[in-house]
Amino acid sequence: MRLFRALSIRSKLTFIIMTVSGLALLLACAAFIRYDLYAFRLAKVNDVTTLAEIIGSNSTAALSFQDADTAKEILGGLSAKKQISAACIYTDDAQVFAKYLRDDPQGGFSPPPVQEDGGHFENGELIVFRKIMLAGERIGTVYIRYDLSEMQERLNRYTTLLVLVALGSLFLAFLLSSRLQRTISEPIRNLARTTRRVSTEKDYSIRAVKQSDDEIGQLIDGFNDMLGQIQQRDRELQGAKDAAVAGSRAKSEFLANMSHEIRTPLNGVVGMTELALETELTPEQREYLETVKLSADSLLTVINDILDFSKIEAGKIDMEAVNFNLRDCLETTMKTLALRADEKSLELLCEVAPEVPEIVRTDSSRLRQIVINLVGNGIKFTHHGEVALKVRSEGEHGQDHILHFEVSDTGIGIAPENQKLIFDSFSQADSSTTRKYGGTGLGLTISTRLIEIMGGKIWVESEVGQGSHFHFTLRVGTADAKVVEVGTIAPPEILRGVKVLVVDDNRTNRRILEGMLTRWEMKSTPVEGGEEALAELSAAHKAQAGYGLILLDMHMPKMDGFTLVERIRQSPELSTAIVMMLTSAGHRGDAVRCRELGISAYLLKPIRQSELREAIARVLGAGEQKGAIPLITRYSLHDARDPATVLRVLLAEDNLVNQRLAVRLLEKRGHRVAVAANGREALQVLDKESFDLVFMDIQMPEMDGLTATTVLRNKEKERGSGRHQSVIALTAHAMKGDYERCMAAGMDGYLTKPIRPQELDEVLEKCLARRMETANVPEGAMRSE
Ligand code: ADP
Repeated sequence: MRLFRALSIRSKLTFIIMTVSGLALLLACAAFIRYDLYAFRLAKVNDVTTLAEIIGSNSTAALSFQDADTAKEILGGLSAKKQISAACIYTDDAQVFAKYLRDDPQGGFSPPPVQEDGGHFENGELIVFRKIMLAGERIGTVYIRYDLSEMQERLNRYTTLLVLVALGSLFLAFLLSSRLQRTISEPIRNLARTTRRVSTEKDYSIRAVKQSDDEIGQLIDGFNDMLGQIQQRDRELQGAKDAAVAGSRAKSEFLANMSHEIRTPLNGVVGMTELALETELTPEQREYLETVKLSADSLLTVINDILDFSKIEAGKIDMEAVNFNLRDCLETTMKTLALRADEKSLELLCEVAPEVPEIVRTDSSRLRQIVINLVGNGIKFTHHGEVALKVRSEGEHGQDHILHFEVSDTGIGIAPENQKLIFDSFSQADSSTTRKYGGTGLGLTISTRLIEIMGGKIWVESEVGQGSHFHFTLRVGTADAKVVEVGTIAPPEILRGVKVLVVDDNRTNRRILEGMLTRWEMKSTPVEGGEEALAELSAAHKAQAGYGLILLDMHMPKMDGFTLVERIRQSPELSTAIVMMLTSAGHRGDAVRCRELGISAYLLKPIRQSELREAIARVLGAGEQKGAIPLITRYSLHDARDPATVLRVLLAEDNLVNQRLAVRLLEKRGHRVAVAANGREALQVLDKESFDLVFMDIQMPEMDGLTATTVLRNKEKERGSGRHQSVIALTAHAMKGDYERCMAAGMDGYLTKPIRPQELDEVLEKCLARRMETANVPEGAMRSE
């Protein structure tokens, strides 16, 4: 049946016609043979009965006179008919009177007993009995056996003939049916061909040709009609789509323009609030200003989300691949989230597996955006426990590296039915979430698209009440050897071999710290609490193998960091080790307590590798000099900058508020800033002095930033000294065309306003790295001598 279904309509029709005509022929032949057989038998019975009657009447005299010889002679006359195999004449008392056997002239056979008149068939022979009458009285019986093999021959002849006729007719039927079925199958085949063409070529203007007015003709009419409707609908849809695309483009542009209009004043609000917060304030004023800052920050996040989203929707997102230190980038990013985590007493962890390359090449600011979104969500939806970011390598893929990021939290979790939904635009797992936790529902959508653009994928594993694990992969390039050299710094000699006691209740944190310390060839022993630390210190003291450094966590469940240090100080024989405290957030009065307890450094978690290394090197160095050790905090780490890390910056900006803000931001980072009010002024200043970096606003009176940069580049070319002044654009416009325009004018980078400290840091760090790189060349050459 399955075979039949697979046949073409042509073969099906031929098959049906042949089957029907074959069957009809077979039936007709069978009936014919059957009838012929019947008629033949009937004729034979009549013939033989007549013969028996003739023999009977001829032998009445012989019977009456008991003349058996005459009777035998009469029977002998039967030899003329060779189909008669035997015959016999019985007397009236059923005794054999005379007999005849064709193959034996002596008649040596025993005839059967006498039967009533009639004929019957037996073993392929016709047996006939006929009584012999004389004057109304029975005087004997005739028996004749007739051989029917003649009939078999006739049957065989007939069958052969019929088979030949049937084959001939079937062949004829096949020829006819092949021609005739075309009237039905051809239009259907044409229709099928047209359907296939429409669906493969997606051309709805094709029409099927009508060949008849029957049902197939109607089918073709209906089909053509449907194609017409589809064509019409397509035209309408295309029109609607064009209108929608145009509308969406207009919407995106409107959004971008709006965001520019909102960003500019917001820049002032955020920046000035930050500056005001650094002045002397009453607690009430501080609280008000902090609320202003918080509100402005969240407003900025929403605007950025919407802008990003509209850019992605319009396919206008730009990716910029740069080489950067992945660990440093992630650690800095986590730091910006530390305060929020600490407000909720959450542990914030960051662990990068050792096999992950130090320097990678991808869009660092987009990576940071994804991490901030996922970790930020983790903090938002977690009430106690921890939020952890882990990165491991999934191996190489050609020139690239596949990195696997995992952001896990111990928060409220996401129900299975919502786990797919949350990656869609404007979706939140639970609509009540918006009221309780806030948010636009765009964060994950943006992250998902960014990850896809960066060659990765994102997925979530979560259980309600147990927390969520967001995973994503990224395909990143690895940097060439020269850059790696700048990125990885050899551990200072002073750290090597120092025994360090690590006290932290969080296992992951202990592992992270241990990993860093081991890399710097320090000998670390991890313990999980105050009591264990005291026990370990006393054991070490007894074994006369005291620790050189104690690295402890401030928040621990049974005994906090300060209490532990107090206990150590109470029994000085226990340890004289240098103590460094790590905390999730600084609290007022902490510094004073640190000084009282002789704690050498007080640092904010999550701590950057480079920062911890620098801090340890400094406390150990100070310890060796036996001088008074100043308390090292993140500020002092920043302040004590090497003059080699101070940049000379020129800021060209007309807006007074923005000017003040940018200057403050740069000065806070220890750089020296000169200001120009427009492009022309900036060029004048640049003629006299050289700078490491120029920040150039785009929209300025007299001469805008783009023109100024073009003029600058032309001058550089004229001078032919090969010096290239780094120029970074500052703009409140965050639209695609802007970036291209800036690059075309010869700028080296691009920062959008409001200036985000992180982005600023990145630009400054890049500039420093470049400076170090050029400065490092002769130094490296000396080293190798
Ligand atoms: P929103 O700005 O609303 O946070 P997102 O796209 O970042 O938008 O997240 C969408 C929704 O996904 C959230 O509203 C929340 O319901 C759910 N969600 C995201 N991250 C988590 C998490 N770590 N734990 C629980 N729910 C989460």
